Amino acid sequence: MSDFLKTKSQFYIPEGMIYLDGNSLGPLTKTAQDRIQYTLNNEWGEMLVTGWNKAGWMEQPNKVGDRIARLIGAASKTVTVGDTLSIKVFQALASAINYQKNRKVLLTDASNFPSDIYAAQGLINMLKADHELKIVNTDNLIENINENVAAIFFTEVDYRTGRRYDAKKIIKTAKQNGALVILDLAHSAGAIDTNLTELDVDFAVGCTYKYLNGGPGSPAFIYVNPNLINSLEPCLSGWLGHENPFDFSLQYNPASGIDRMRVGTPPVIALAALEASLDIWETVNIKDVRETSIQLTDQFIKGVEQKCPMLQLITPRIPENRGSQVSFSFKHGYAVMQACIERGVIGDFRAPDVMRFGFTPLFVDSQDVERASEILAEIMSKDLWNDPKFQKRNKVT
Ligand SMILES: *Cc1c(COP(=O)(O)O)cnc(C)c1O
Repeated sequence: MSDFLKTKSQFYIPEGMIYLDGNSLGPLTKTAQDRIQYTLNNEWGEMLVTGWNKAGWMEQPNKVGDRIARLIGAASKTVTVGDTLSIKVFQALASAINYQKNRKVLLTDASNFPSDIYAAQGLINMLKADHELKIVNTDNLIENINENVAAIFFTEVDYRTGRRYDAKKIIKTAKQNGALVILDLAHSAGAIDTNLTELDVDFAVGCTYKYLNGGPGSPAFIYVNPNLINSLEPCLSGWLGHENPFDFSLQYNPASGIDRMRVGTPPVIALAALEASLDIWETVNIKDVRETSIQLTDQFIKGVEQKCPMLQLITPRIPENRGSQVSFSFKHGYAVMQACIERGVIGDFRAPDVMRFGFTPLFVDSQDVERASEILAEIMSKDLWNDPKFQKRNKVT
């Protein structure tokens, strides 16, 4: 059984703060500083350029990829790390469309994260061919999968509502119609027990600074189904995806396996911070994380609904149908969230009226949930949010 009391002590959370935004940016791990310092002093400082060989920096994206693979039910050597999620989404879309020579449609739903949709729009504009991006309502995704669809891409857990899509059903329909599937795990990795091997999905991408606690801007990951990878053009063809980068050949020949999805030089210092968090992830079982997350989200939903009837729950009530966050809509949600933050309960806000609270068993426990719902109830019952200082919009909400 995973020891969440222990993991909680391994994160730095400021005194008195209840941090319910690990779905946006995970907290600092206590070992990150030493881990980064080690990389700076003992590796970069002492080894300089020889660190690429001596410290194993070149292999680091795949080693870290293997550690993430374990958390998303993927086999070893199917995941690599680098770039940002937006870039990895673009790369997966481009590879998919290139593979599907005669199919012209990229299909997604209107609840998908804007950056994923922008990546598809940019790609289609660039192709100047008769490709089309089709955006449908979430509930109409499946009925829109047909033999014209090159690839369908969606985010398994909706960033706004916390709704979990039926990935299994979507993938099954896609397979029947010969469409590829790109699954965005931004709100799944480290949050729920997604199993990529069982899903037999074609591509998966995700970020490491949310539930995986890698730190602001830590690199993204990409998974490609081992049955597909070697017949795929990586599309963002950089030298580190080449079969022999140090031949400096003018002809791009992709490496075999997941290596071909690599692009350029690994972010060694950022990866050190991520590794500090993965050390903690190594001590827990993702099934325990999921089970505890369901208990915490249930507790929060019940507590808030009982005390704050004016808040509208927009997250599915059935645990299987949600990820690890709970969202409420309220006309003055932005101001309410600012009042929460002032009182030490940190969540965030998504336009137009959504308050998001993320639940991360690694450092949030049932006492935190109880306290957070009490603080929220006090803000609502006394209209404490109704203060001009809580109306001012910050750049990041
Ligand atoms: C967080 C998130 C992103 C962010 O992409 P970056 O390139 O890391 O800024 C993209 N897509 C989804 C679904 C997200 O949740």
